[in-house]
Amino acid sequence: MLTDREMLFIDGEWVPAGADETTSIVNPATEETVARVAQASPDDVNRAVRSAANAFRNGPWRRGTVAERARILANALNRLATRSDELAGLITTQMGLPASNAAGQVSSSIEMGRYFLDVATDLPTTEIRQTSSGPAAVLREPVGVVAAIAPWNGPFAVAIQKIIPALVTGCSVVYKPALETPLDAYLVVEELTEAGVPAGVLNLITSGPGIGRALVAHPDVQKISFTGSTSTGREIGRVAGGAFKRVQLELGGKSAAVLAEDVDVELAMSGIRMGSFMNSGQVCASYSRILVPRGRADELTQALVAAAESLVVGDPADTSTTMGPVASRKQYETVSGYVDAGRSEGAVVATGGGRPSGLSRGFFVSPTVFAGATNEMRISQEEIFGPVISVISYDSLDEAIAIANDSVYGLHGAVFTQDPTVAARVAREVHTGTFSINSFTYNHEAPFGGVKDSGVGRDTGPEAVESFYELKTVNLTPEMVPVFEAAARPIDS
Ligand code: NAD
Repeated sequence: MLTDREMLFIDGEWVPAGADETTSIVNPATEETVARVAQASPDDVNRAVRSAANAFRNGPWRRGTVAERARILANALNRLATRSDELAGLITTQMGLPASNAAGQVSSSIEMGRYFLDVATDLPTTEIRQTSSGPAAVLREPVGVVAAIAPWNGPFAVAIQKIIPALVTGCSVVYKPALETPLDAYLVVEELTEAGVPAGVLNLITSGPGIGRALVAHPDVQKISFTGSTSTGREIGRVAGGAFKRVQLELGGKSAAVLAEDVDVELAMSGIRMGSFMNSGQVCASYSRILVPRGRADELTQALVAAAESLVVGDPADTSTTMGPVASRKQYETVSGYVDAGRSEGAVVATGGGRPSGLSRGFFVSPTVFAGATNEMRISQEEIFGPVISVISYDSLDEAIAIANDSVYGLHGAVFTQDPTVAARVAREVHTGTFSINSFTYNHEAPFGGVKDSGVGRDTGPEAVESFYELKTVNLTPEMVPVFEAAARPIDS
């Protein structure tokens, strides 16, 4: 049993939660409860947002320089790095990500945080421009109070991705992790606070959808940075639109990997092994539709089966495991329901399709390949968020592009080909926010996000930092220019 977490972090203090009930955090590999976590009440949401708003309006954080904030946050990231093993262990325990992947997630997230600090430090907060009506200062000012809301499938990564750029730009944050995976967030708050983030600037509330709803609707929240499902994103978008709140929505996906006629099969299988089955397929960008030339469908399906069967499914704490369970009983039931749907729609289970033998406990699903799928089937249209792929045949590259685009989602996609012209054509024609060639690639230096029902906004790259700023134009008289120039970057850094 891990330490129970019965407190919320509001206005610089650990305080008891208003709701009486607690949430049980369940290890999906063992089905055992590993900790109990406080549940916030609507009143806690109000207190957290008020404290963030007060810190933003009246506190020192917003008024300091980017460089001062970056120094504190860099220190916090260094402190978190010293707790990497503990963080990775919590990720594995609360959602079943294999230990080696969890360690990688922690180190790459800390690197991402450092990258955001560098971007912010290099971005001028005051620019003097000459306009047709005289000089003007264009100021980058923090948007205000940010409600940062995370899903359960990438807890620590999403925490860093949302909290660090918001804080370095001078915003205040109320962070709400998912109900199922809040344990790493306590370490994030502890280290940011130890490093010197002032009271009220970062608040932590733990609970589920109802509390998320109250947070989004709070009138003192100026921006919502949300990662989660499309249905929740749609609801948040409505609320944000009505109140003109800034909004960033990173939502679901149903990404297609197009295997071209000249595909390098070994390279493609290595990309798909990771791109479709990493984190048990619970990755928004994962390749859940594999498009193959009809004449090579049998051969490529066999290669996909071999790739799926090469995964070592089991205890995620064991370093030889390459695929753990899905994150919760609910997710296990959802994924199993889709496997049943695929069968009843006429797709053929080429491998998997149930619980792996020898694993009677835990929410384990075998890596599953559906052969002979069509793009109209539910398994090809709806986000399963599990280790299940649909293999769909095409007759021409144009048809492959049309199938890839025949989806409400537009998050990610890929082409596997040895011909750069084919690669460029497919990359341009598939309507998504992100695209990979001969790989499954994610990095924090380029923008990541979706189009269509996959969301609005970008969560990485310099664009992510920019999104926590509002632009303000101050039209100047010539004698004011030196005053504003003095506030520009050289002094700021
Ligand atoms: P979810 O939408 O159910 O919940 C996400 C978060 O929102 C949780 O913290 C939840 O408590 C909260 N929430 C739920 N309803 C809310 C509401 N009405 N108002 C405010 N907050 C609310 O999603 P999930 O099941 O936790 O996560 C899985 C989904 O996340 C998948 O669809 C996946 O594709 C998506 N995802 C997207 C990305 C991306 O970058 N595009 C990354 C990871 C996950």
